[in-house]
Amino acid sequence: MLSKLQFYIGGEWVDPVSQKSFEVVDPSNEEPFARISLGSKADVDKAVAAARRVFPAWSRSTKEQRLGLLQKIVDIYQRRYGEFAETISREMGAPLSLSKNAQAAIGLGHLKTAIKVLKEFQLIKPQGTTAICHEPVGVVGMITPWNWPINQIVCKVAPALAAGCTMILKPSEIAPLNAILFAEVLDEAGVPAGVFNLVNGDGPTVGEALSAHPDIDMMSFTGSTRAGIAVTKAAANTVKRVALELGGKSPNIVLEDADLQKAIPEGVMNMFSNSGQSCNAPSRMFVPRGKQREVVAIAKTTAEKVKVGDPFVEGTKLGPVVSEVQFNKIQTLIQKGIDEGATLVTGGIGRPEGLNRGYYVRPTIFADVKNDMAIAREEIFGPVLSILPYDTEQEAIDMANDTPYGLSGYIQSGSLEHAQRVAAQLRTGMVHLNGAGVDVEAPFGGYKQSGTGREWGTAGFHEFLEVKAVMGYQAT
Ligand code: NAD
Repeated sequence: MLSKLQFYIGGEWVDPVSQKSFEVVDPSNEEPFARISLGSKADVDKAVAAARRVFPAWSRSTKEQRLGLLQKIVDIYQRRYGEFAETISREMGAPLSLSKNAQAAIGLGHLKTAIKVLKEFQLIKPQGTTAICHEPVGVVGMITPWNWPINQIVCKVAPALAAGCTMILKPSEIAPLNAILFAEVLDEAGVPAGVFNLVNGDGPTVGEALSAHPDIDMMSFTGSTRAGIAVTKAAANTVKRVALELGGKSPNIVLEDADLQKAIPEGVMNMFSNSGQSCNAPSRMFVPRGKQREVVAIAKTTAEKVKVGDPFVEGTKLGPVVSEVQFNKIQTLIQKGIDEGATLVTGGIGRPEGLNRGYYVRPTIFADVKNDMAIAREEIFGPVLSILPYDTEQEAIDMANDTPYGLSGYIQSGSLEHAQRVAAQLRTGMVHLNGAGVDVEAPFGGYKQSGTGREWGTAGFHEFLEVKAVMGYQAT
């Protein structure tokens, strides 16, 4: 059993103030394989004090110092790349190929983007005789989930370092080992003591202590809408800035003129990728009613070819979902879909054939789904696709927007101009036209209950800046 009981505070690996250990489970075999500590408010106080102490010095570091440091982090991250991919697959179950090509890759992408953005960003902008100065927001508390773990960590840490902030990270207790690895990378790169601190723990204890802490200037949170609301409430008494990246129930609108042979397999695979555990997964597929039959046939064939299994076996497309809690939640929602009268096209409750250990879920597709059913409203966070027939394009757009969420949208059309017209009507922070992938330099975030603020690229860098207007800065 791997033992990772210490926290990284003030540039050192230290024991928790009081010991409370927690097991990390391998979702492919349900066996605990590592142990971490769950921290307390006292650990948070120590980490915040360390971050606060070094803030005056780090906030005045030069652009060149920060760029040099970020480049060292890139080099060490690259050297330990394989470890990141393996760790992520082990602790959250993504197939190793996905961990290598996407999970670990996107962390590196955010580091390189932070370098590019900082190089190009003018921190002091003259406006007449006034100077608009961009300064680090201060000490930042960061809370991240388990589903794209290193992506979510690095898209906060890299721009915060670039901005001159100091920080305390509380990663998900379900998949904390990639965060510990990243702390080792930062330590080796020579991040000054106290600039980056890591405290493991659960949400109600460490997450709450960070959110309410009077010496933290900003909370950057990624996770469920439920926990995002808790963070916002806890942060309110100290009026700190709160940035939230929350859940989604993203629509994928297949327009009349779409190429079904391309759009449907792509839509299905995009939904199933990472076992459906992506906040921006295209979980509601809207299709013209007259074409539902044809769509269902293509979707069924695609789903039934998907190889579910051990994340470390070559050729696996879908690993297990992360935990027993997630497994049970997904089973309950699949049962609800059946009970509410949706047509089960493929999959269903129980494990896939031949897999009787591990949190494996059957790739599942429902058709004839109505937008008021639980499977169309709740974020399932599993490989479950809902197909909803529509009669008119306007009805599809209205149903797409009829959700408390607004993270992402997907549109399929034979005409780019047609797709653009529909994109303008979606109330979502992101839209992907005709299978376009994510853009690591574009703003990432949502409308409505999918969050506030934007991460990634220049927008993500802005999140960690305060703006100071200095009047009379220039002589007339
Ligand atoms: P979660 O909200 O339970 O946990 C996320 C993090 O919040 C964890 O570190 C957890 O310990 C912490 N937390 C839990 N309760 C808290 C509280 N009361 N106060 C402070 N912190 C608390 O979510 P999860 O199950 O780990 O992750 C899945 C969720 O994250 C999904 O809803 C998904 O859509 C969302 N997500 C959103 C994005 C995005 O960028 N929009 C990205 C990934 C995941």
